[in-house]
Amino acid sequence: MTSRLGRLYVAFVATAVATLGVTVANPAPASAAMTICYNTSQAGAYAGTANQAASIWNNATTNLTLTANCGSNLRIYQITGGGSYAVRTSLGNGRVYIDTQQAAQYSPLRIMTHEIGHILGLPDNYNGNCAILMSGGSAGTSCTNPYPSTAEANRVSSLFAGTLSATERSAGRSADIFRDSWPSVLTPVS
Ligand SMILES: [Zn+2]
Repeated sequence: MTSRLGRLYVAFVATAVATLGVTVANPAPASAAMTICYNTSQAGAYAGTANQAASIWNNATTNLTLTANCGSNLRIYQITGGGSYAVRTSLGNGRVYIDTQQAAQYSPLRIMTHEIGHILGLPDNYNGNCAILMSGGSAGTSCTNPYPSTAEANRVSSLFAGTLSATERSAGRSADIFRDSWPSVLTPVS
């Protein structure tokens, strides 16, 4: 009987901890900014780029603050080959992979802010417009804009404030993998 109660207690504590974890994705007070701790211990050459991208998102949005190395809501990795991508486990949580080969062709900072944009709830929007951060590689290698548009930034703020419709919220919070095979430049442009 005692061990049964012990197991129940353990289950209860596990549930309580899991519930606490959900507060990251479901901010109750709209006035309090959510802290998203990002970890750059495996970001290699892109740790500084991650810090720049965090500042860009912090300046562009309300309701959230990306803070370096206070935890690991978001882990950033340097990889080689295969394209950069983001794995969102829930809103504000996941992993970002920066491909060194891709970052040699496209702006590393634009790639970083784009991939973090996925973690913050944004989908791809490959419309070729350099002013749109989530247009990614469709805007070409000459596009180095690392800033989200006002609409993109406002959408992230709204997602974290919980003010969007239930459908829009669930789209931004869903677990998803965003593979960004930004077009390779095989032949140098003369
Ligand atoms: Zn993308």
